Amino acid sequence: MQRVYNFSAGPSMLPLSVLERAARELVNYGEAGMSVMEMSHRSPEYEAILFGARDSLQRILQIPDNYKILFLQGGASTQFAAVCYNLLNGSGKADYVVTGQFSKKAMQEAQKYGDIRVAASSEDRNNTYIPALSAKDFRPDADYVHICLNNTIYGTRYHTIPDTGGIPLVADVSSCILSEPLDIARFGVVYAGAQKNVGPAGLTIVIVRDDLLGKARKDTPAMLNWQLMAENDSMYNTPPCYAIYMAGLVFEWLEKEVGGLEAMASLNQQKAAVLYDYLDGQNYYLAPAEKPYRSLMNVTFKTGDEELDKQFAKQAAAAGFKNIKGHRSVGGMRASIYNAMPREGVEKLVRFMAQFADAHPKA
Ligand SMILES: *Cc1c(COP(=O)(O)O)cnc(C)c1O
Repeated sequence: MQRVYNFSAGPSMLPLSVLERAARELVNYGEAGMSVMEMSHRSPEYEAILFGARDSLQRILQIPDNYKILFLQGGASTQFAAVCYNLLNGSGKADYVVTGQFSKKAMQEAQKYGDIRVAASSEDRNNTYIPALSAKDFRPDADYVHICLNNTIYGTRYHTIPDTGGIPLVADVSSCILSEPLDIARFGVVYAGAQKNVGPAGLTIVIVRDDLLGKARKDTPAMLNWQLMAENDSMYNTPPCYAIYMAGLVFEWLEKEVGGLEAMASLNQQKAAVLYDYLDGQNYYLAPAEKPYRSLMNVTFKTGDEELDKQFAKQAAAAGFKNIKGHRSVGGMRASIYNAMPREGVEKLVRFMAQFADAHPKA
């Protein structure tokens, strides 16, 4: 069986060279005489893996020294609550921008913990855009403002980071982390599930500014307490050892093979342009995301006919383009073209799309 082009929204493709290296090192890592999965997380070998991954991420994203990098568990969804435990402890107010399902889930989770206001929403146009925002949209005494930087399901993204007038900005960056440079200093906290651009599911990255630590509510579960995790170098308990190792290999790939985030961004822009240029030059497929807000990572399109959409996903899968069906809540198609998707995969997909359009004229 050949490897396919996997357009899944997550878990998604990993670089082949990373998988091959992990395979070579699976049974016996270096001189350890054992697999990374079998290692004590307190061993010098494993500490080198974890700290190496952390330092590599700091270099790639140019994370300022006054931020802590945490490797946690539970996915981005666990952070929906962790954000509240750690930050919603001043006025007890937080403002959320709802631009899709994940930002809505984050907001709904937060409602359990404090006075939560929806500062802006794109639900009026089915989340096909990002609302314009300025500092006056937020309550000045809010403990934080929460956004989702790339909307995985709807295929939209922020192109400018909103001005919150000094209120700490918290961003879910699960589906865009490491796709291009990001000015971390504009954020109080960013967090991401690993399974889109980083590595295996379960591992969760939190990058938090120092001054936001130490504000956690008294009833914060230890496992959700960022300060405790930072003090323990993400090893308060057994960390997701193997997933961190895999993430470290992906970071090394980004640094050494891709050449860093500028190079990654340029590749990603080229890939996205192949799809969007095609979509803009034809009238068989509809592209629901409004042009100024189009995602670099998740490209949504549909035929406008549910039966044809079904046919498309089925025939695409048979042709080696897997997991291209849109999210169950919105239908249509979605090509997730994360970092590890080669340009060739996108070019072949576009050829397939054109052939499908020719072979299935609409009534
Ligand atoms: C995938 C995704 C999530 C959910 O991540 P889990 O790790 O499954 O909890 C949350 N937010 C965004 C933006 C995502 O893309």
